Amino acid sequence: MKIGILGGGQLGRMFIQEALKYDDEFYVLDPNPECSCAHISHFTRGDFNDYDTVLEFGRDKDVVTIEIEHVNADALEELEHQGIKVVPNSKIIKTIQQKILQKQFYEENGIPSPEFEIMDGSEEEIKIQLPFVQKLNTGGYDGKGVQLIRTTQDWRNLWTQESVLENLVDIDKELSVIVARNENGETKAFPVTEMVADPKLNLLDFNICPADISSETQDQIDLIASQFIRSADSPGLFAIELFLDKNGKVWVNETAPRLHNSGHQSQEGNANSQFEQFYRVVKNLPLADTDNFGFSGMLNLVGEESYSGKVKYEGLKDVLKLPKTYVHLYGKTETKPGRKMGHINVMADSREELMKKLIHIKSLVRVIA
Ligand code: ADP
Repeated sequence: MKIGILGGGQLGRMFIQEALKYDDEFYVLDPNPECSCAHISHFTRGDFNDYDTVLEFGRDKDVVTIEIEHVNADALEELEHQGIKVVPNSKIIKTIQQKILQKQFYEENGIPSPEFEIMDGSEEEIKIQLPFVQKLNTGGYDGKGVQLIRTTQDWRNLWTQESVLENLVDIDKELSVIVARNENGETKAFPVTEMVADPKLNLLDFNICPADISSETQDQIDLIASQFIRSADSPGLFAIELFLDKNGKVWVNETAPRLHNSGHQSQEGNANSQFEQFYRVVKNLPLADTDNFGFSGMLNLVGEESYSGKVKYEGLKDVLKLPKTYVHLYGKTETKPGRKMGHINVMADSREELMKKLIHIKSLVRVIA
């Protein structure tokens, strides 16, 4: 089968890496000829936000999918009309692309998400109480486009673009659940993962599995996942980012209609990874089992502040000496501050051991130029 992917970043790369054990051809569209997928796929250089480019790219594929949601969804809709399979469908991509539509989707479908107000660009009619979180309707990514407005002083920083103003949640834990649905309607979730801040370094978060949550919390998440999948009404793999508040209530922060950073530990930590599961979704195959093997965790390798240029991974050899530790690099030659360059997965027999290992690894490795 000819599988076309919009976006050539690390998510696409790890998907292709996993799926190469089956018999398919992978085509990638990305503007950057040095992107993570460029040298491991049939590569087309082009803009996945451009209508004609996406249409042309998709025309001769058996299925077109995404590894980034900021793509030209009108072109995907046209491809659907032309009989090309698009996973996930253009409708849910459009809903998720815009924060306002995404929030309205949760509201309409009874999915708990923090209360919000729409700001259309002027601040005169704002009724929401301080403190609140402002999220740009479009263009936000990786923490950009999100800001906390805590005091009347902060009002001066308010962006004037269209945005969602959202109640601040008193967060106990940040959780994530990845859930898949194939075209036959079969669905399967991964065990819930948890973001934990490194208590000593206080710099970077680790993503660990399984999350330390009560069965009552798990029940809320199961309900959210099934509600989401039913309402989205599309095959796909979705990462639902969640907040558990200090009163024990679970809220949806946002959803990605694609593979996700919070699922990387599944590569070695679960019976099947998110990448394998996504392949099953794209091909409408039976979904894979997702049980975790003990405790697993992931640490992002992020470009260190004040280093830009040809990347060097300091300390990586020491990391490779450690047991049950797995290095994944994304094929990016240039580092810059905050750029995701790779990640390291670790397995352990207990949560305590896992945290110790992650903190140790964090102290060993630096991404510099
Ligand atoms: P992005 O996807 O760009 O990272 P998010 O919407 O996930 O943006 O927001 C980034 C972070 O901001 C979250 O991980 C969370 O810590 C904080 N945050 C976002 N919304 C809220 C909220 N309603 N209440 C409290 N904290 C929030």
